[in-house]
Parts: sequence; structure tokens; C-alpha cells
Amino acid sequence: MTCVFCSIVKGEIPAHIVLDRDRVMAFLDINPVAPGHTLVIPKEHYENILEVPKDVLAELMEAVKAVSKALINYGYEGVNVLSNVGPAAGQVIMHAHIHVIPRKSGDELFKRPKTQRASDEELSKIAQELRRLI
Ligand code: 5GP
Ligand code: ZN
Repeated sequence: MTCVFCSIVKGEIPAHIVLDRDRVMAFLDINPVAPGHTLVIPKEHYENILEVPKDVLAELMEAVKAVSKALINYGYEGVNVLSNVGPAAGQVIMHAHIHVIPRKSGDELFKRPKTQRASDEELSKIAQELRRLI
């Protein structure tokens, strides 16, 4: 099956590339949340970041850092670094990628959902269960 990001890696479809290294690259998102919204990907196809081996992941995160610093040097005040894993989390392109979304105070790009303080009992129960599953 053809993968859009694999096609970008191969140069078969164009992209506005901002970083091109050994095993990772970064290019501008075609449908940006804000100007400069960048996607950082491994060149090899992995379905999501959970599948990426740790040496490649290290390169990926170095690239995320470089892109984030560039966006801040470009004039932004901060970034959101996020990766959607699975359709339920909003993943549409099934080739691992990390979004670097540039932020300015007051841009109101994302609203934090309403939250409420969890009880220690609930937190303790969930943490215990997760420790068991890790
Ligand atoms: P996801 O929802 O899978 O985390 O995000 C995929 C992202 O890829 C979206 O933000 C979308 O705009 C971007 N995208 C999809 N197709 C293309 C493309 O052909 N070129 C580029 N540059 N970005 C793409
Ligand atoms: Zn791919």
C-alpha cells in the first residue's frame, strides 16, 4: 500500500523540507495549525512512534529539538510537541510522525479540556495497575 510520507521520503511527491538527516527528516505540514507547523518523521516506515527503535527515536527527538529551536528563533514563544498514536487519538497518516506546532501566547490553538482533581485513592490504583503493565 502506498504511504504518503514514504512517497515524500522517496521524492515522489513534493514537500517543503526543513531538515534532512541520515534516518529522519522534517517538512512543513500541508494543512498547518499555524505557519511553521512541522512534521518530523523517520525515513523508514513505522506505523507509529511506539514502533520506532530507540536509536532512530533518539535521532527523531534530536530533530524535534532542532526544529523547535528554529521555530523559537523564527519568532515563536513556544511549541507543542505531540504525536497521535492510533485513529482514536486522531492519527490519520499511518507513518510515524511528530508534530511540532509553534505557539504564541494568546493564540488559543488548543483549549485544555475541563478537568477535576482526582482522589489519591484513584491515582494510586491506576498507577499501581500501570506499573504492573509496564
Ligand atoms: P495525523 O493526524 O496523522 O497525526 O497528522 C497527519 C498530518 O499530515 C496532518 O496534519 C496533515 O495535514 C499532514 N499531511 C497529510 N498529507 C500530507 C502531505 O501530502 N504533505 C504534507 N506536507 N503533509 C500532509
Ligand atoms: Zn510510510
